[in-house]
Amino acid sequence: MEAYKLRRGEVAAILGLKPRPGGSHGTIDMWLAGKNAVPAGKVAQIEREAPAFVANRLNCQYCGRAAKLVRGVTLYPGHPETHDKYFWRCAPCGAHVGCHPRNKNTKGKPNDGKIPLGSLANKELRRARNRAHAMFDPLWRKGKMKRGEAYSWLRETLGISKEACHIGRFDVELCNRTVDAVAALKKEAK
Ligand SMILES: [Zn+2]
Repeated sequence: MEAYKLRRGEVAAILGLKPRPGGSHGTIDMWLAGKNAVPAGKVAQIEREAPAFVANRLNCQYCGRAAKLVRGVTLYPGHPETHDKYFWRCAPCGAHVGCHPRNKNTKGKPNDGKIPLGSLANKELRRARNRAHAMFDPLWRKGKMKRGEAYSWLRETLGISKEACHIGRFDVELCNRTVDAVAALKKEAK
């Protein structure tokens, strides 16, 4: 994901947002986190001129509202290991998604720990994605396949594109098909 093609200052200028004292662009973070209303025309301009930047702003796939960035402490008060991690959340839908760990999966690009792993998921979808990961990940973590081989096999088996082949973007049906496909593969191998 090319989330930061434009500099923050350039995006701030398009949005007409004033930097906070000291020059930080916290107002952009507030906008990205859905806390700062910006006229639709400005958003359309950003989408036209800086699509990569807008890719980091996430809308709820259930209701279309802008998701808000929260820390794990809000969602999982009983799980301290999540407390300083970021999640994108739509409170009305009870949907959220975690983020790539800070400075991991960067491919040379900045990663502030706020890049979502995929689309927002409600409880049913979170469970389905967890089941799919639990079935699929051992193929490359413990099995004979390399990670890339396992994902090639998965996208061919499901008949989806490389771009679409991320469990974090799957719907419940694709998760269930993943679980079934891995089960069939394991049966075959016996
Ligand atoms: Zn929602």
